Amino acid sequence: MYDIIIVGAGPAGLTAALYARRANKKVLVLEAKTYGGQIVNANRIENYPGIPNISGFDYATNLYNQVKDLGAEIKFETVIRIEKNKKVTTNKETYQAKAIILATGAESRKLNINKETDFIGKGVSYCATCDGNFYKDKIVAVVGGGNTALEDAIYLSNIASKVYLIHRRDEFRAEEVYIEELQKRNNIEMILNSNVIKINGDSLLKSIDIEDNKKNIRTIEINGLFIAVGQMPKNEIFQNITSLNQSGYIISPDGVHTNTKGIYVAGDTREKSLRQLTTAVSDGAIAATIAIKEMEWKKWK
Ligand code: NAP
Repeated sequence: MYDIIIVGAGPAGLTAALYARRANKKVLVLEAKTYGGQIVNANRIENYPGIPNISGFDYATNLYNQVKDLGAEIKFETVIRIEKNKKVTTNKETYQAKAIILATGAESRKLNINKETDFIGKGVSYCATCDGNFYKDKIVAVVGGGNTALEDAIYLSNIASKVYLIHRRDEFRAEEVYIEELQKRNNIEMILNSNVIKINGDSLLKSIDIEDNKKNIRTIEINGLFIAVGQMPKNEIFQNITSLNQSGYIISPDGVHTNTKGIYVAGDTREKSLRQLTTAVSDGAIAATIAIKEMEWKKWK
């Protein structure tokens, strides 16, 4: 019997484990892939308060070691089912907990073109807030037509010398306020009805090929490609214990509780307005603290 089982060893899950271990709870973290979540892809983190510059990998490794040293068990197993009675089944075993924290994160949707994943940190990014500063006075392109893509293009236009905004349709799904702001920026060029079909470069991104809806292909030279075509949480297996919004994120009106007692949520996997390292670790700390408090209250009742 564990006090808390945490699903996901990204910053939210590991921070929850850190807080739970410091409260002397028996903790198991279950992770399907590798520790660190999306932050391991960040070339450098420069917006984490108090740590001016660290690589995503180093940050994740430090946090992982910190949590291990505190005595949390971390197992690399895939969760396949969670019951309302806090029974967790993985591809290897079944575990029982008093409380569960879901911290499974989200993945950036990929364009699924050549070199896309190989060039992460070498010109390809899924996070303008994290990586934008590396493109000071350089030329970048943003792909997508939602709020994130337009926000990213506007944000990057303050840093880069030129921003291409490439969208597959001629209408944006982003809110009007972003569209109006976009049009005011004279260093943003929109390329509509077009898809990025190829990334060029040997070890660093040099240019991209884009194809319009008449099948004309052209190459544009850029230093950075910011892909903002949505995110994909993977919460389908939790539908028996929590409700999901249309995009698959866990709905939690207070940002901590799910609609199953004793099952909590933290990090990018929940419906929220800012998905950042800072907000993920904050969520983890809050979820663990509330889970522990409610566990104690249960004992008194
Ligand atoms: P999104 O709204 O799902 O938009 C994704 C965009 O990417 C769409 O324009 C879509 O094109 C395009 N796209 C999807 N797959 C593509 C592909 N394979 N190739 C090329 N383009 C592709 O995602 P998001 O912008 O990340 O926003 C996610 C949610 O967060 C939304 O609910 C959004 O409102 C919210 N959000 C809110 C704020 C804010 O309020 N400040 C900021 C950011 C995000 P189509 O339009 O053609 O489908």
